[in-house]
Amino acid sequence: MKKLLWFILAVFTLFYTSNVSYAQPVKNPPAEAYEQNTMSILWFQNAGEAKALYYQGYNIGKLRLDEILRKKQYNRSLKPAIVLDIDETVLDNSPYHASFIINGNGNRFDWSKWFNRAEARALPGALDFLRYADSKGVEIFYISNRQEKQKEATIKNLKNVGAPQANPDHVLLQQKNEKGKETRRNHVAKTHDIVLLFGDNLGDFSGFDGLTDTGRVKTVDKMKEEFGKKLIVFPNPMYGDWEEAIYDFEQKKSWEEITKLRKDHLKSYEP
Ligand SMILES: [Mg+2]
Repeated sequence: MKKLLWFILAVFTLFYTSNVSYAQPVKNPPAEAYEQNTMSILWFQNAGEAKALYYQGYNIGKLRLDEILRKKQYNRSLKPAIVLDIDETVLDNSPYHASFIINGNGNRFDWSKWFNRAEARALPGALDFLRYADSKGVEIFYISNRQEKQKEATIKNLKNVGAPQANPDHVLLQQKNEKGKETRRNHVAKTHDIVLLFGDNLGDFSGFDGLTDTGRVKTVDKMKEEFGKKLIVFPNPMYGDWEEAIYDFEQKKSWEEITKLRKDHLKSYEP
């Protein structure tokens, strides 16, 4: 009987500790794991090209929103709405990632301390676009896989940067045991016509959850007409489902396994 109780306790502990909002491929990654992210973070923080891509995305968003409203290209029995992811879409968390390289340690997958500081800055173009959408009477929903317990800090950060409609009804965070964002998108779609979606991760759009790395790429090809039309994608080379898909979404792989999978997925030529 005691053994059974211990077993149940162990299963519960495993279940709850693995229920993190961001995947955790390596439990205690070595400093080298962080070092490999140096170029991605350098690019994200310093390249004018990165900044330009954010402006480009939000400029296209504004053009499309104008067209949709002018031509009334939405279900007029519903309210028009836009849906945005938060991290690396509206807010810039790159200082959090840079800190691991500078300090050589830390837990890349426990974001809570950083979130609680509520000091992430807005990404280029985000605020101008959001204020414009707000001025046009469009409802803005922030759908993020931050956890519900991080809601207060998340709203505080959005308010700190001046993001409109940053309130509990418009900031929809991940619920316990919820996977992906589809449930929350469907909830919004009951009363609103979602005319545009913005994200740095394909999971910010419908149809990508649970796909393999090659499946994700094939689906992007199939949906090519939607990008720049209904779906606006931003660049995030620092982390994301694109990386987790390479590890088959298997959590807690060893650093050796991860290094091998990274190299195996490089496409080279025979010199
Ligand atoms: Mg994101």
